[in-house]
Amino acid sequence: MSYKDVGLPTQATDLTADEVMDAVNPDPRLGYFHDPIPNNNEGWVPDQVQAALDAGEKPPRIMTEMVENPPAAAAKLSAFNTFVCDVQVNGADATMCGCVSTTQRGLRRHMRERHPGAIAHTSRAKMSEEERVAGLDAVKKWVISGRWRDARYAREPRVDERHFIKQITDAAEAIAASDTEFANTFGTKFNREPVDGQAPVRRAIGKTSGKGKAKARAIQKDVDDEVREKKVQEGSRSPMEKEADEEDAEDSNEREAEKDGVDEKEADEEEDSKQQPVEGSVM
Ligand SMILES: [Zn+2]
Repeated sequence: MSYKDVGLPTQATDLTADEVMDAVNPDPRLGYFHDPIPNNNEGWVPDQVQAALDAGEKPPRIMTEMVENPPAAAAKLSAFNTFVCDVQVNGADATMCGCVSTTQRGLRRHMRERHPGAIAHTSRAKMSEEERVAGLDAVKKWVISGRWRDARYAREPRVDERHFIKQITDAAEAIAASDTEFANTFGTKFNREPVDGQAPVRRAIGKTSGKGKAKARAIQKDVDDEVREKKVQEGSRSPMEKEADEEDAEDSNEREAEKDGVDEKEADEEEDSKQQPVEGSVM
């Protein structure tokens, strides 16, 4: 959940430089780094899935080639992003999904399976330095504008200290605590409100109508099922153990996918950096 060589901000100017203030998202060429990513194919499923549903059969797993030609153009996701699923889930409503993946491959698989047609498939080229810098600047801007803090997610994204966005928000709060000018301009709080109890959390679902409502209900059911399932599995285990279990589960899903030959061409460079702390301050 971190990138190697992400330069963490250590002083106000790391967050207020022109490059940060002028950062754009989505980048017309590189795609989305963060933020509500529209799903131009909301409600669409690949033909093979629809056929199985129509026949009352278990739908097949959604493979990359099944989502290559959705009815509407899919959005482009940059190779630099927050590992959080920012696909909008309630039509024009700004509520986003909020699932967090530990790897880029996991994120793209999640998007393909849960939001087919939302994100264009890309054969994974290594991220360029230009893309890393542009993406990091855009995420910094997102953080200090308070838009990450206030973003509405159908489920609360679980980002802990290993996640680079959490490291940026913590750094921004530390800077704000000692730099009055920065604090007066941007505020002092950049982390999302911690919510007591267990993630995922009900957040900002509602105020939708028709299709949006049905979708919101479906998502909430999904969340509820997941919570229920976790409660059953977890019993009285400690939070650390639970987390380790969850990551194991995700890793084993990925291994399974590899066995199935899914995404074989998507060699995942980020995999290597998964558990490594971000190397600080190369700004
Ligand atoms: Zn999602």
